[in-house]
Amino acid sequence: MQKNDEIILKITDVTAEGSGIGKYNGMAIFVPLTAVGDTARVKILKVKKTYAYGKVIEITEPSPDRIFPDCDCFNRCGGCAYRHISYQAELRLKSQKVYEVIKRIGGVDMEPQPIISPSLPDRYRNKAQYPVSPDGKAGFYAFHSHRIVPCGDCLLQPQLFTEVLTETEKWIDENNISIYDEATQKGLLRHIYLRYAEKTDELMFTAVINGDTLPFWQELVTALKGLCEYRLKSVQINKNKSKTNVILGEECATLYGEDFITDILCGIKVRLSPLSFYQVNRNMAERLYQKAAEYAKPEGKNILDLYCGAGTIGLSMANQAKSIIGVEIIPQAVKDAQFNAENNGIKNARFICGDASAAAEQLSKEGITPDTVIVDPPRKGITPELISIIAQKFKPEQVIYVSCDPATLARDIKLFAQQNYTLVEYTPADLFPRTAHVETVAFLSRK
Ligand code: SAH
Repeated sequence: MQKNDEIILKITDVTAEGSGIGKYNGMAIFVPLTAVGDTARVKILKVKKTYAYGKVIEITEPSPDRIFPDCDCFNRCGGCAYRHISYQAELRLKSQKVYEVIKRIGGVDMEPQPIISPSLPDRYRNKAQYPVSPDGKAGFYAFHSHRIVPCGDCLLQPQLFTEVLTETEKWIDENNISIYDEATQKGLLRHIYLRYAEKTDELMFTAVINGDTLPFWQELVTALKGLCEYRLKSVQINKNKSKTNVILGEECATLYGEDFITDILCGIKVRLSPLSFYQVNRNMAERLYQKAAEYAKPEGKNILDLYCGAGTIGLSMANQAKSIIGVEIIPQAVKDAQFNAENNGIKNARFICGDASAAAEQLSKEGITPDTVIVDPPRKGITPELISIIAQKFKPEQVIYVSCDPATLARDIKLFAQQNYTLVEYTPADLFPRTAHVETVAFLSRK
């Protein structure tokens, strides 16, 4: 096979990023924007030893899962992976992927529980950070790039965000606001950052700026109030003067309203500042936590909540549990967790700032023996050391593993199995519809 060859390819699988895969003469061919069940004429773009990349010239026979993408930006911005197949097909695919990886890497052949999913897959995000292009338009970065694509009315965000962007773009234009340029590091406005508390209908607007002050901010506040005065609870600036891809700087200042907004998750009031960590899909996070609680059966138990962020999983179980200890590495998140506990009148929770493995080691030395351990690590999963501490020192009846990467979950399930913890059940949860991401909550029990 050579570059520029054209072949007819049947798509039989997808990658974790959502790109279609077909087999041709024993080689795997990766073709973005195809669906399982498509037959396509494909042009080969790049050939490696055992695989190649191609692009679709024509779909000769469409997959039965195909639908017409309902967004102009699909394929241009880096957001969605699955707007070209039905949501039912996406859910089937995500469950199947989790099953396969737990079987292949985890060594457990077990059907998943039905995937937790919303009735409608759109407008679920409560947070968006839009880079601003030199012509003053908010957008998103293209896939694996820093090219800004105007995003129109993005279907993953609340409609309110689109309306706020329109007002903001008008304000930028009318007041000739200077826009930050990554290449020269000159200019002021870097990102427009919006956060929405769904349960309380509160909106936070943050302008991320390369400077200390935002000119014409009164005009901005007036425009935003004109749009949604009763929802607008906070307008802030975030100062980011570094040459970095990291969106937010460490310092914020409030221009209008409060320093925070408040959402309610599983009955817990959660205070959100621009810098706090919070699940972007509130409704599905709530259902994920409910599933975790169903597995954890917290009544009267001592619970250790590792990788706890702002403490929300543990706090949502605190009124039934005997005690909660949360561990989190980011100091600000620990402060948020402590605040959230206090603000909800929760007295049986405490939070430790530190690395999960190191803190677990320390807690085991103090003789702490939790009945249930919950872990909710980032994509890279947990360390073998932490698995050993949990299995050898804490020896809880059960481990609840909330994961945003099925592959590392599967790897860790295998390590747990070698130390007497077997997988009892697992449930995928679609916290990020239309994107390639899928969450899983797994229930492991001591033999
Ligand atoms: N359980 C929380 C947060 C999950 S995200 C929720 O549901 O909202 C994962 C969290 O792990 C992040 O807050 C991140 O800061 C934290 N983290 C990352 N590495 C860590 C480590 N080595 N030790 C402890 N926490 C860590």
